[in-house]
Formats: sequence, structure tokens, C-alpha cells
Amino acid sequence: MDKRILVVEDEPSLAEVVSLYLKRAGFQVQTASDGRAAMSILEKQIPDFVIMDLMLPGIDGIAITRWLRDRSDVPIIMVTARREEVDRIAGLEMGADDYVVKPFSPQELVSRVRAVMRRLGREQPEAESDRALSFDSISIDPRTRLVTIKESPIELTVKEFDMLYLLARHPKQVFTRDQLLERVWGGAEYIDPGTVTVHVRRLREKIESDPSKPNHLLTVWGVGYKFEP
Ligand code: CA
Repeated sequence: MDKRILVVEDEPSLAEVVSLYLKRAGFQVQTASDGRAAMSILEKQIPDFVIMDLMLPGIDGIAITRWLRDRSDVPIIMVTARREEVDRIAGLEMGADDYVVKPFSPQELVSRVRAVMRRLGREQPEAESDRALSFDSISIDPRTRLVTIKESPIELTVKEFDMLYLLARHPKQVFTRDQLLERVWGGAEYIDPGTVTVHVRRLREKIESDPSKPNHLLTVWGVGYKFEP
């Protein structure tokens, strides 16, 4: 079934072009041109994804996002104007998954939507997406974001966790650096490809008994990385 996406935007021409691109990308699109219209849609049913303009007549995007976050973990991309810099950061802190700054290309927005969905595993059936994994000595629970090695809890950063979970969910499957950047960091262009290497090293220090001879997080020379249970 097509994913349902709600576009909350008070500039009609922008709402139209964004909807067009999202429809072309295979989404079922609904639009709301102000906060109240958005609320009346959301009160009936929460969609699979929300694009939320920050500054709206009536109820603003932050208030709606906060309301949504109390009820649902639906992915949200916030749309802001540059002068709203401060609000934009507040928006992320209170639960948006990503943001775009006006003016943006609609194609970029579509890529961001896809990246957020991939990152949150929303392209998979629900049961698959927050499945806890457990191997001989490692267990990984995405609901609590808890990793334990031989029963003792390990502290991981958000990205370390996301990367480990992605690799472990597909044991023995090799992921290239680009695939990891895309799926863990949402393909953000400003991320240095060396970031993956750094995160792999830190993860090994945390989960491997001998980080220089890893048993779980293996390098596949010239290709990328894989998880060995
Ligand atoms: Ca606006």
C-alpha cells in the first residue's frame, strides 16, 4: 500500500509542487494549508509521514509537532525559512526527524523523506522494523536502544547504535561505506565518508573483546563492512 503523507504548508504554490513530486515518488498525498486544517486531519488519522511548515497561520508547526509527538512516532520533516533558525533547532529538539530550509528543491525533499524512512526502517513491515536481535553474546533491542554484551549493557551513541542495528539485522551482508552513510546518516552530503570508519572503530572498541581482531564487525577489504553473529 502507498504510504500516506501529509503536507502542511500555507504557501499554495509550494504545497502544490511538493505534492506533485511526492505523488510522482509514489506517495498518497494530503495537504493542509493551516494549523487547524492539519489538526482536523491528524485527529482523525495519523498518516505515515508528515511534512510540516514551521510558520503557519493559526496553530504553528511546533505546536502541532509537539501534539503529534505525544501521540505517535510518525516521521516528521520540518520546513523552515532561514530567519527561523532558532525555532528550527527547537523543532528538532522537540521531535522532528529532519528539516529543510526554504528555498529547497522538491527533489531534495523527496530524497530526505526516503532517507528518513530508511533510517527509521519504515520501509519494512512494522514487526520487522523494531525486532530485537539476539546472538550468542550480543543482544540489540531497538525499542529500548539497549545493547548488551554477555549480559552487561554497553553505551552507544545514536549513530553507533543505528549502524550496529542495521548491520546486525542483515548478518553477513556486506554494506559499502556509501550504503552506510545513506542509511545511517540519511545520505547527508556534508558528512565525511571517513565518518563511517571512525564509527566502526569506536563500535569495535565497545563491542569487541579484541578490537584489533574483531569477531563481529568485520571489514570486507575494498568493499565495506559486515556483521558476523
Ligand atoms: Ca509558512
